[in-house]
Amino acid sequence: MKSIRWRLVFMYLSLVFIVMILTGTFITVTAQNREQRQASEELHQCAVYIEEQVIEQYDSRYFQDSLVNLSIVSSALRNMDASILDSQGRTIACSTASSQDEFQQFNSSAVIAALNGEESFLPRSRITNALGMEKTVMSYSYPCKDESGKVEYIVYVQMDSQAIEDSIAQTARSLIVAVVIALIITAVLGLLFANTITSPIAALTKKANLMAKGRLDQRLAVKGSDEIGQLTKSFNTMAKELSKTIVESEEQRNKLEIVLHNMTDGILAFDDKGQLIHINRSCYDMLEIDDVNISLSWLMELFSITGDEEETGSVRELTVKGKDDKYISVAIIPYTLKKKKHRQEIAGGTIVVLHDITRHRQLDMMRQEFVANVSHEIGTPLTTIKGYAELLLDGAIDDRAVAMEFLKEINVAADRMKLLRDDLLDLSRFDTKVNKFNMEDVNLVSLVSGCCRQNLIVAENKHQDIIFNPPSKPMFIYGDPGRINQVITNIMSNAMKYSNEGTAINIRLKEKGDTYRLEIEDNGIGMPKEALERIFDRFYRVDKARSRAMGGNGLGLAIAKEIMDAHNGSIEVRSELGKGTTMTLIFPKSDMDGIIDEK
Ligand code: ATP
Ligand code: MG
Repeated sequence: MKSIRWRLVFMYLSLVFIVMILTGTFITVTAQNREQRQASEELHQCAVYIEEQVIEQYDSRYFQDSLVNLSIVSSALRNMDASILDSQGRTIACSTASSQDEFQQFNSSAVIAALNGEESFLPRSRITNALGMEKTVMSYSYPCKDESGKVEYIVYVQMDSQAIEDSIAQTARSLIVAVVIALIITAVLGLLFANTITSPIAALTKKANLMAKGRLDQRLAVKGSDEIGQLTKSFNTMAKELSKTIVESEEQRNKLEIVLHNMTDGILAFDDKGQLIHINRSCYDMLEIDDVNISLSWLMELFSITGDEEETGSVRELTVKGKDDKYISVAIIPYTLKKKKHRQEIAGGTIVVLHDITRHRQLDMMRQEFVANVSHEIGTPLTTIKGYAELLLDGAIDDRAVAMEFLKEINVAADRMKLLRDDLLDLSRFDTKVNKFNMEDVNLVSLVSGCCRQNLIVAENKHQDIIFNPPSKPMFIYGDPGRINQVITNIMSNAMKYSNEGTAINIRLKEKGDTYRLEIEDNGIGMPKEALERIFDRFYRVDKARSRAMGGNGLGLAIAKEIMDAHNGSIEVRSELGKGTTMTLIFPKSDMDGIIDEK
């Protein structure tokens, strides 16, 4: 009896059964009472009739005959047995001739009551005749009194009650049949009615189960505005709200996922048992691991971190050295979860944030190196200035010729410092991108020719030749002529500086694809292989003493590279120790190249 449907049917059946049984009983009892009342009335009238027609009319000797006659002529007495008893209770007349054989037994209490002057009606009593046959009768005893009120005779009338009982039994049977039919109809109708209630509930249950399995698009047709209709409507609203909420939280989660996935910092989350619950892509790159079984203890071991990293509430930050000289800053952050119910905090786990600080460290070291280099570079001319100034103060100033010599040295040292300051300022402007370029279409052929002319005197001083055969057609690039001149001059001066006397500097200008290539070749001292990738670093010099003696501070190529980068160009270097060096400047062609003529 678990389902509501069967419970409802059972309820209907019980109700109908109870109502039918109560009604049936009431009807049967009422019918029985009515029948008995009627019978009692009838028997009373018969008794009165016998008193009037027999007892009051005749002498007791004729009672028998006159009673028999009366029962023959009177239709009312036809179905009854009537007897007259004297005041002693003896039968003195009987309506049926052979009364002794027939059912003519008297109920003693009824007779006694009559003798006491009281009428009495017995609705049901069983009597047996001489042959042993049983019969159910209704009896009425009626006392006949004389003028003084003394009971003289008793009229005892009996009537067969079988017919009445049969009719009542028939009524009862009909009622039972009616009850059975009513119960069957109730069961069928109850089932149908219960179905109208339970089928929407079953449909709701089915849809709710589907929703629980993640299919959120479940909706039900609303039939009517009754309670079931309201429930269906509420279900639909709930389903809509739920799917909206889930979609929103899904979106939120996706956003978070995207943010975490694309973060350059590595994020790892562990539960309170140290098991990994989240990791982003950067971690794999940073730790250079594939699909290993990551746990908090594994990570701690990897970074050789000791101590209670799960200590609630305390954040630890440290720097560890990873593979390939990588430096990683590690932040270990324990987190707690709030239990809403008891408002208490429980350990939730640990979040580990990894930040690659290799570049940061490199920059830091470069900065330190740079400061050391600058101090060193300044130191030399400063020492010179200080030295000569002290000598002058010590009296050398009095010797004009010596003083002039010293002042010249001071001037040279100051020039070097100025040069250094200008170069540093230049580089710093490149770094902060404040250097402005006056870009225009420049003919590289005339620019290189100009540079050659400018450096001719320096070359002649060293008995060196600058050999350049300018191409006949103009070669236009887009750039700042002053800056490009600065680059070419630096490379030419390097070629002259790091070559012996009497050598030649070959300059070639070529076209290759959509670039122009300026090659500056010398037959000088050359450079070792390992130096090639460092010559563009600030303050780098292959032979410090020699290049300083040449007046160089190792910033020329660094500036040249910055300028070439700003022109979308590049510098290539080929060099062999003792044989010579070829520096190639590569410029992209101007859009106007081939369109405009030489100015
Ligand atoms: P600056 O140019 O600032 O006056 P510098 O010439 O010493 O000083 P760079 O032009 O930057 O500095 O050159 C860096 C180093 O590369 C030089 O010190 C030198 O050792 C080496 N170098 C450059 N060009 C040549 C070359 N043509 N032959 C041999 N070594 C060279
Ligand atoms: Mg130089």
